[in-house]
Amino acid sequence: MGSLSKAGAALAGLREELGGEVFAPGDAGYDEARAVFNAMIDRRPAVIAQCADAADVVRTVRFARDLDLPVAVRGGGHGVVGNALGDGAVVVDLRRMHGVSVDPEARTVRVEGGATTSHLDRACQAYGLATPGAPDSAAGVAGFVLGGGTGWLDRAFGLAVDGMRGVELVTADAERIRVGPEAHPELFWALHGGGGTFGVATALTLDLHELPEFAAALLLYRPEHGPEVVRAFREAIETGPDRLSGALLYLTGPPGSAYGELVCGALVTYAGGGRTLRELAAPLLALPVAGELPYADALGVFDTPPGLRSLSSAECLIGLPDDLVDVYCSLGARMPVPTGTRHLLFPQGGAVAAGPHDYPLPFRDAPWVAHPSARWADPAGDERALAWVREVRSGVAPWTTGDVPLDLIGDEGAERLRAGLGVGNMLRLEKVKRAYDPDNVFRFHHGIRPL
Ligand SMILES: Cc1cc2nc3c(=O)[nH]c(=O)nc-3n(C[C@H](O)[C@H](O)[C@H](O)COP(=O)(O)OP(=O)(O)OC[C@H]3O[C@@H](n4cnc5c(N)ncnc54)[C@H](O)[C@@H]3O)c2cc1C
Repeated sequence: MGSLSKAGAALAGLREELGGEVFAPGDAGYDEARAVFNAMIDRRPAVIAQCADAADVVRTVRFARDLDLPVAVRGGGHGVVGNALGDGAVVVDLRRMHGVSVDPEARTVRVEGGATTSHLDRACQAYGLATPGAPDSAAGVAGFVLGGGTGWLDRAFGLAVDGMRGVELVTADAERIRVGPEAHPELFWALHGGGGTFGVATALTLDLHELPEFAAALLLYRPEHGPEVVRAFREAIETGPDRLSGALLYLTGPPGSAYGELVCGALVTYAGGGRTLRELAAPLLALPVAGELPYADALGVFDTPPGLRSLSSAECLIGLPDDLVDVYCSLGARMPVPTGTRHLLFPQGGAVAAGPHDYPLPFRDAPWVAHPSARWADPAGDERALAWVREVRSGVAPWTTGDVPLDLIGDEGAERLRAGLGVGNMLRLEKVKRAYDPDNVFRFHHGIRPL
């Protein structure tokens, strides 16, 4: 009774003092506030605090500590496993904090902790500048960057986190600190891949690159042409400049193509103009193209409509030999259609491989990554989707490096977590965790435990 009234009084106090809004079970708007991108996630936090600024974040973390409750952090709500929410947790919901300020002189951008890729890109485009962002425009920038961040610009400019200059963080002690190469250097290191395990990033400062033009096209083919398409894409990437990127994907034909049927797609992106893109993609254009979506429409294909169920996994590959091309294509042919599922295969290399190797992101060395990403509407499709994702993983197993891009996978156990962060990095990460969050307040992301 005593602790109930203590919790009730604390909640009333939080509602009173927060600039943003607070939702608890039973409140109107609670269910809406706890919905994330993946419709399979049905978690019931104790409190959701939609913070208006960093001071609100401090108040919320203090509130959670006073009641001895764990804290989950929500950015864009696009995490694969829904770890933006925790049953019984206090959720720091950052969606209202989406300010982006570009400094064109310093070539940097300051991004608040709840900004999405769309907020970031729109602000930077006005200056002809860019930083590597997520393929899905609704994905949160902070979650994406702190997990590494792979997208269409990484071969040209590096993983998103490679350009991170500093982080404004609220710690488990509800302290506001600035983290950078000179301030809290061990924590800065850990934030390169360790994600939201160490605190709430209320803002990040990121490097910007000149990018006056960016071109993309999604070329669609009948699935029987898959092996030729994959080989032509491989050739283009392996002989082309680092500014050339994109992905192969099997998908349900979008409007403007074989609508509703399985198609094999090659998304070709170029950090430059459309004419050069077409020259570099000439071998792909020489194949019998069944449909083509230009720039904005092509990128829209990667935006997932809300309300779908979702499960993803990923395997880093040692290369893309012809045997593997055939295996990838036959797995594509077995993909559940029509659904929102994508059977992706994307290149790394370029600035990703050349980037700093000290960070806990060993997946950067893989030249190719297979990324089955199942999305479907009907719960009756769960078994089929799960089985297909499992089938892709075991199909490509003979060619894996063993590294894991953690942000692309579901909850696949402690061994995959260690592989994702690097076995040799775990002890160091656990020491940082002990120094900054000994009580494991931030326990929903990646599950790095304090040593
Ligand atoms: C279908 C799909 C496709 C994806 N494709 C890619 C891809 O191509 N490349 C890629 O790199 N990733 C990809 N991702 C992964 C996605 O970018 C990451 O999961 C990212 O963390 C999502 O950020 P969010 O803020 O939207 O997610 P949320 O669900 O809000 O958060 C995810 C995790 O990040 C933490 N976090 C978020 N914001 C903060 C913050 N401000 N401070 C501290 N911790 C924070 C949260 O605590 C949570 O643990 C994909 C995910 C899905 C579901």
